[in-house]
Amino acid sequence: MNFDLSAEQRRWRDTAREFAREEIQPRAERLDREQKFPYDITAEMAKLGLMGLTLPEEYGGSGGDFVAYNLALEEISRADTSVGITMEAHISLGCSPIAAYGTPEQKEKFLASCATGERLWAFGLTEEEAGTDAGGTRTTAELHDGQWKINGSKKWITNSGTDITAGVTVMARTGTREDGRAELTAILVPQDAPGYTRGPAYEKLGWRASDQHPLYFEDCRVPQENTLGERGRGFRQFLATLDGGRVAVAALSVGLAQACFDEAIQRAKERRQFGRSISEFQAIQFKLADMAMEIELARNMVLKAAWLRDRGRNFSREASMAKVFASETAKRAADQAVQIHGGEGFMEGSAVARYWRQVKINEIGEGTSEINRQIIARSMLREESAEEAREKTAAQ
Ligand SMILES: Cc1cc2nc3c(=O)[nH]c(=O)nc-3n(C[C@H](O)[C@H](O)[C@H](O)COP(=O)(O)OP(=O)(O)OC[C@H]3O[C@@H](n4cnc5c(N)ncnc54)[C@H](O)[C@@H]3O)c2cc1C
Repeated sequence: MNFDLSAEQRRWRDTAREFAREEIQPRAERLDREQKFPYDITAEMAKLGLMGLTLPEEYGGSGGDFVAYNLALEEISRADTSVGITMEAHISLGCSPIAAYGTPEQKEKFLASCATGERLWAFGLTEEEAGTDAGGTRTTAELHDGQWKINGSKKWITNSGTDITAGVTVMARTGTREDGRAELTAILVPQDAPGYTRGPAYEKLGWRASDQHPLYFEDCRVPQENTLGERGRGFRQFLATLDGGRVAVAALSVGLAQACFDEAIQRAKERRQFGRSISEFQAIQFKLADMAMEIELARNMVLKAAWLRDRGRNFSREASMAKVFASETAKRAADQAVQIHGGEGFMEGSAVARYWRQVKINEIGEGTSEINRQIIARSMLREESAEEAREKTAAQ
């Protein structure tokens, strides 16, 4: 077993770390306060190749592997998870499905401007009645004379309304399958498609410098050629998309947990009580030790899931495990970081207060902890049943 990163992976991690430390971290508090999307930061990240890190070089992406992407995402999120989620939603949710399922024409038309990061692409699945249960999708698409006519709405869609957004992949109900379930199809909708509009941005508890809007489709028309992959394969596509997304949200959580640790250890060394640094108290040392152990474990889980994906192996269970553990690690780390800061950690302007507010969404977005625990348990149960069946066959 080799835990060493390749030179290329180290290069991506270090590029992201340096940029995050110098250009993002000093502005994170203000970005959160002003709730403004940082166009200049996104443009700089595009120039560095970070906004297209795993996307094909043929279309202007950086062609990096999934391990490198998650290492970079951790570093960006360590400085600001708002910027982290902008990068993650663009690469994992927006562009990766086009790279995986798009035709050469679709890639030329939609991916080429986005793989460089100059433009952004969004992924619209969630609706009023369809959160965890994507089968509840109400948005419909009907074919008329070679054109899809889309009607319905989506909500909370990341990167959907910036000045540089090029479009969104919409998951729509295009019929009913034989088993009575919804037939879902992914359709590429450019920003200027007739009948497509967006509502105002949301006020949020965290990720406040990232961009989310409700989307409205009223007889929105796009050509049939904008179908992404096969008609009716949308459900499978989005499951695969979310597997990758879950690893990335886990990396984002590790970055945030690390930021909490960075602040906590600094404060522990500086703060004096009873004539001593509070870092000399065992109660504080144990908190730091627990944080460090959990972060190390969460990071290893992210890297293992990413490594499996890079080798084309099944990584669905590991993705869910990493997502649950890393997001809950980040929550505990944020809580302990505030505790170590005492009252100072409760004040507006304190970095750990901001982290404590921001951390919750990691347990919700791209599959809640409940649903990921179900995925893990079901995959273990399936494996057990398969094992039992094998034993029975061997005994016969
Ligand atoms: C800031 C932000 C950005 C987002 N960006 C995007 C985006 O870019 N694209 C997109 O499509 N979506 C996006 N989302 C939506 C996000 O993916 C959903 O919030 C998430 O999937 C959960 O859905 P929900 O919020 O409707 O919760 P619900 O599905 O209503 O769940 C509520 C609770 O019930 C539990 N629950 C539901 N079903 C079950 C079950 N079967 N068993 C046990 N427990 C269950 C859940 O775990 C949760 O605790 C975003 C959300 C936010 C807040």
